[in-house]
Amino acid sequence: MNYCQKKFSRRKIIKFMVLGAAVPFAFTTSQAQATKVSKETMQYRDKPNGKQQCSNCMQFIPGKTSEANGECKVVEGSISPQGWCTAYAPQS
Ligand code: SF4
Repeated sequence: MNYCQKKFSRRKIIKFMVLGAAVPFAFTTSQAQATKVSKETMQYRDKPNGKQQCSNCMQFIPGKTSEANGECKVVEGSISPQGWCTAYAPQS
């Protein structure tokens, strides 16, 4: 076995490939979770603010039906379509 074969064994190459695939995935997952903030921080409430409500906010991810709670790209937890918070951003 020459120097190059010792340094780059098949086992090491497979280990690096697995780590190379896992690290970016773990980083993106933790980034996605880290970007959401609590309802208290954004002063979330289950009632609209005039015509402003989650169902017409660009951050809203709808639930299974138009009446079901969904999710928000900014605020953590279950979000009512009739809710509102200070991060409201109208859909264009
Ligand atoms: S940013 Fe605020 S208003 Fe918009 S969907 Fe999320 S919780 Fe609702």
